[in-house]
Amino acid sequence: MSDCSCSTQVAQPMKGFEEALDLLLAQARPVFESERVACARGLGRVLAEPLVSRIDVPSWDNSAMDGYAVNTADLTDGQSSLKFGQRIAAGYAGAPLEPGTAARIFTGAPVPPNADAVVIQEVCEQQGERVLIKEAVKSGANIRRAGEDIEAGAEILSAGVRLQPQHLALAASVGIDRLPVYRRLRVALFCSGDELVMPGQPLGPGQIYNSNQFSLAALVQALGCDVINLGIVEDSLEATCEALARGAAESDLVLASGGVSVGDEDHVKPAVEKLGSLDLWKIAIRPGKPLAFGHIQGTPFIGSPGNPVSLFVTFSLFARPFILRTQGVTGDLKPVPLRVPVDFDWPRAGKRREFARARLERDGTGQAKVSVYPSRSSGVLSSVVWANGLAVIPENRVLRRGELVDFLPFSELL
Ligand code: AMP
Ligand code: MG
Repeated sequence: MSDCSCSTQVAQPMKGFEEALDLLLAQARPVFESERVACARGLGRVLAEPLVSRIDVPSWDNSAMDGYAVNTADLTDGQSSLKFGQRIAAGYAGAPLEPGTAARIFTGAPVPPNADAVVIQEVCEQQGERVLIKEAVKSGANIRRAGEDIEAGAEILSAGVRLQPQHLALAASVGIDRLPVYRRLRVALFCSGDELVMPGQPLGPGQIYNSNQFSLAALVQALGCDVINLGIVEDSLEATCEALARGAAESDLVLASGGVSVGDEDHVKPAVEKLGSLDLWKIAIRPGKPLAFGHIQGTPFIGSPGNPVSLFVTFSLFARPFILRTQGVTGDLKPVPLRVPVDFDWPRAGKRREFARARLERDGTGQAKVSVYPSRSSGVLSSVVWANGLAVIPENRVLRRGELVDFLPFSELL
């Protein structure tokens, strides 16, 4: 059903980057269905409930070093000689320490009852049945206390965390083997354009290879979503409507590349308006000015320009946080920039904020500096391969070599 009440006209003024992102994120509805998965399969999933530890970690006082467990009451300030008692390796519990004895102990082994310090082996000398301790030792030395890392009952991870290797390790360290996570998102994608041909096929006159399908699918997969690939869609209203309707029926989000402008061959805008509602935003960024956002039968839709660089940048800046929010990720989704000096002059101030393909490197003195790709064309895909992030050049600014800019490493964006 058509519902154009919320459509904005293309003639509207351009939105700022933050405004557009806030508008988009405000419309993201997090999934609520969850499932339990083995810890080993949790990478990249989003935690649906907080995790609470049922145990202390460490669960008992244990030795931080290889050495000798002692009771400091048995030691004098200078050298002490103690009878050699038991040997305690990691994985075994020792007997209580007999007065006047030292126990050989190894890293991670439980400190035996009555011992209050571990003396590192480097300051000890084993002499037959006895151990000579050559330095003064403080009570508590080299002991990792029970509960020092985590106390039983403590929340170790909160809901809405996207699970990285360290989160999986922390869950495992308290004995949790299954994780409550939100279900995976299904993301449908298609690429509009009569000029598109799949790699592996010969190119006819006027044709180009469909590269956006590969960037889009991989970007979406890297976020842990299942991809429903609807392939190449011809430049017609009917085919565009068909792809949109199918994508909306089968997925949580439909992504499209190309056809979002307002030319005769751009059918995404009328198609989304026919099937649902659309906002087409001109955003004051470069590259990637137009971004289409709408809903079809309740399924959100994001359409990016077909230029491969614009697609890549708009995905990183807009579709990615939208997907993360929909996956159930909480907290601030803005990438954290580095402040680094530029290795170039930017003599002409632009009206739009530029997300320049950029490369962070160290110069001969070890100082980090950022360079930008010589071409600003949004069709030059090799520039994205050359780059390792985006330099944010503020609107209405000129820059002199050495001034600082925000640099968004791809590790924060992909
Ligand atoms: P459009 O947004 O459809 O006007 O396309 C803008 C430019 O991006 C044109 O030069 C297209 O040929 C190119 N383009 C569109 N779709 C793709 C695609 N899937 N892969 C590579 N280039 C594309
Ligand atoms: Mg096109």
